[in-house]
Amino acid sequence: MEKSLESEWIRKRARRLGFELCGVAPAEKFPELDGFADWLARGYGGEMRYLGDARRADLQSVLPGAKSVIVCALNYNTPLPHSTQAFAEGAENEPRGWISRYAWGQDYHAVIGAKLEELCGALRERFAAPFETRWYVDTGPVHERALAHHAGLGWIGKNTLLLNEEVGSYFFLGVILTTLELAPSLEGEAPPPDLCGNCRLCLDACPTGALTEAYVMDARRCISYLTIELRGAIPEELRAPMGRHVFGCDICQDVCPYNRRAPVDALPAFAPRSWPKKSLPAAAPDESLFLPRLEWLASLSEEEFRELFRGSPIRRSKWRGLLRNVGNALGNAGAQADEETRARIRARLEMLAQSGEELVADSARWALGRLGDMSS
Ligand code: SF4
Ligand code: SF4
Repeated sequence: MEKSLESEWIRKRARRLGFELCGVAPAEKFPELDGFADWLARGYGGEMRYLGDARRADLQSVLPGAKSVIVCALNYNTPLPHSTQAFAEGAENEPRGWISRYAWGQDYHAVIGAKLEELCGALRERFAAPFETRWYVDTGPVHERALAHHAGLGWIGKNTLLLNEEVGSYFFLGVILTTLELAPSLEGEAPPPDLCGNCRLCLDACPTGALTEAYVMDARRCISYLTIELRGAIPEELRAPMGRHVFGCDICQDVCPYNRRAPVDALPAFAPRSWPKKSLPAAAPDESLFLPRLEWLASLSEEEFRELFRGSPIRRSKWRGLLRNVGNALGNAGAQADEETRARIRARLEMLAQSGEELVADSARWALGRLGDMSS
């Protein structure tokens, strides 16, 4: 069969598995990889030492004999408001936090991994000659966004994410490296052009100044890194600008014009996890990961955290990390709370300040200091 027909067959197969986009890139070194080494050398990767894995520089060291990379994108956009629209104006008596859209439902690693495994199985049925495959979702020593760009899925925007003109950026990327020689999706064509133009909405909206310039993000200032990857205390000067974010941040995607009409047909697995009242202790209200109540999150024991977030991406921050973030967010929420709510927040923070976990106690003390400032 003609190689280009093979690639088209793969694309259709991926679509049947629910992937919004799919393309094939040659397993080559792309110029973006040089920029990545420079980014790391500037320390912008913070404590994410795994990003320095030397295999990232060469796909051949990840899968010897690799000839092609199949890149797939799976939508996680559910029809609920953006972070930039979701918070009520004025005083609140139920302060709420923000969890990144991608983390509302099931752990995407498992959901996409199962689909990529299925696609690999389909390849094995289709191609008789022996070949190897290796797939990754986010955790492998590969530069998914650069590969996606060279597979024709979109361009890397000023917010450093992969953008597609039709689909926006609310999607996960998964890649399959293979020793099969497949026709690249862009055979003879240039990768998709950069359509950011003069726009700089993401740069202006980033509350912590993490987008230091167009196309450059200092992860050490990014709320996603600070709330999920960072294990220690959050630098004090960033705690107030972080607002109510307790896990991840969507702001630079939520303001992007290409996400205004992004399709909202994510799998039910990515809809916000919720707990009906009857599954929680008596008198508890229904709880959800879409705009979760901060006081509820602050009340979780380590055991409850483990139980409630089984199979959820939230597990990555660990209990102490989530409570650190929640303490921070409660301090910031106090700024918009009425007197009665502020008193309740203060009582909750005083409990957190007694925590045996210094990380949690430190964030609660900082938040109490912020509330103190408010009443003085
Ligand atoms: S995710 Fe949030 S903090 Fe990070 S660069 Fe985007 S807007 Fe800034
Ligand atoms: S907000 Fe504007 S500049 Fe930023 S990624 Fe989107 S289109 Fe590009």
